[in-house]
Amino acid sequence: MDVDAEYRRMVSTASSAREVAIIGAGPAGLFAAEIIASAGHRVTIYERMPSPARKFLLAGRGGLNLTHSEQLEDFVTRYGDGNGRVQASVEAFPPSRLVAWANDLGAATFVGTSGRVFPKAMKASPLLRAWLRRLDSLGVVIRTRHRWKGFGEGNSLLFDTPAGDVTVKPAACLFALGGASWPRLGSDGSWVERFEHAGIRSTKLLPANCGVIIPWSEIFKSRFAGHALKRIAISVGGKTARGEAIITETGLEGGAIYSVGPSIRAALAADGEATLMLDLKPDLDGPALTARLQTRRPKETMTNFLRKAAHLSPAAVALLREGSTPLPETAEDLAARVKAVAVRVVGLTSIERAISTAGGLSWGTLDEHMMIASMPGMFAAGEMLDWEAPTGGFLLQGTFATAAAAANGLLRWLS
Ligand SMILES: Cc1cc2nc3c(=O)[nH]c(=O)nc-3n(C[C@H](O)[C@H](O)[C@H](O)COP(=O)(O)OP(=O)(O)OC[C@H]3O[C@@H](n4cnc5c(N)ncnc54)[C@H](O)[C@@H]3O)c2cc1C
Repeated sequence: MDVDAEYRRMVSTASSAREVAIIGAGPAGLFAAEIIASAGHRVTIYERMPSPARKFLLAGRGGLNLTHSEQLEDFVTRYGDGNGRVQASVEAFPPSRLVAWANDLGAATFVGTSGRVFPKAMKASPLLRAWLRRLDSLGVVIRTRHRWKGFGEGNSLLFDTPAGDVTVKPAACLFALGGASWPRLGSDGSWVERFEHAGIRSTKLLPANCGVIIPWSEIFKSRFAGHALKRIAISVGGKTARGEAIITETGLEGGAIYSVGPSIRAALAADGEATLMLDLKPDLDGPALTARLQTRRPKETMTNFLRKAAHLSPAAVALLREGSTPLPETAEDLAARVKAVAVRVVGLTSIERAISTAGGLSWGTLDEHMMIASMPGMFAAGEMLDWEAPTGGFLLQGTFATAAAAANGLLRWLS
């Protein structure tokens, strides 16, 4: 393996090979395993599912967005961890290193038009296959169908396996159990209860990067579910995001919605509902749009007029009329409506289909090296920690970066 300078330093400083357990074979667990095994330790990964990295494979189905090409100073503002721990991890393991790592595994990357970084193959499976071969060559053992079920005596680790209960007591352990979205892929958040039982606190796991529930009229959803509202801006709770939203049977989903997700969640928690203000023409200011809407030909339908004069799609025009509010007559009022459509959100779609999870293991339980302060030798990384980020490659970058931070912390502790 072509280890970089930092890994080489670790290899030279590892005093002697020790047994390390990693629980969870998602990207966080696999990456931590690579770093720790590269430093000369004997690593066993325990995974409850019959095969590793199922969510990572699913993430690759629509194009594996590994990271993003924006400037690091902007990049690190995407993490809502409050205390800067994920930001610091990403600064230490930035997108350039993740891209170099993928290239080194034979998964050459490219930057898409939106600045997002993908492997050229788009899928996760070729990268995962090369990665598992590398781990195998480093002597990493993956024990599948091993469900961690809690701490035993002396902080030993208890597993449920097809062959019965197994207890292990490694020199150090790194938890990479993921959040609670898409539980059928393995990460079901059940670790929260076991950690609480051991006195280790978490904040509630909630859906993030998920759809919002909007009580559409029957006619609107039957005609426009599946249509995209492109190049719009969504504002809520003082935050605005530009992008696209897809109309669904139950509401809206898509990048622009995900970006304002934390503000929507906050409003729902405070008031039981949230009001989104949609600007259907964010590239035109009010006067410019008013000018375009001045002259409507006699007999021209409003839909045709808005389509031609303001380039609004039929779905966008229908949204203006949703809730049976008559459209204003004057150009100025019409422009004002196009630039501020109020949409009432009554909930979030379920965590079962959310792209990621907000909440997780509280930062206060971890020391500066990602070690669980009350359990020396036990570390945690990845989505199970209390942070969130929008889609765009920020989730996997945060996952890899926190895995690198925790793995480095574990190596430091062992030496
Ligand atoms: C549909 C979808 C698309 C996505 N697309 C992207 C994308 O393009 N770009 C991006 O940046 N992010 C994307 N993500 C998010 C990304 O996949 C996650 O952020 C990432 O997988 C988190 O990695 P992790 O290792 O922390 O957790 P996970 O990937 O969830 O892995 C945790 C592992 O721990 C195992 N585990 C859980 N509990 C136990 C237990 N008790 N015992 C043993 N093992 C256990 C699980 O089975 C799982 O294998 C996507 C997510 C989804 C759902």
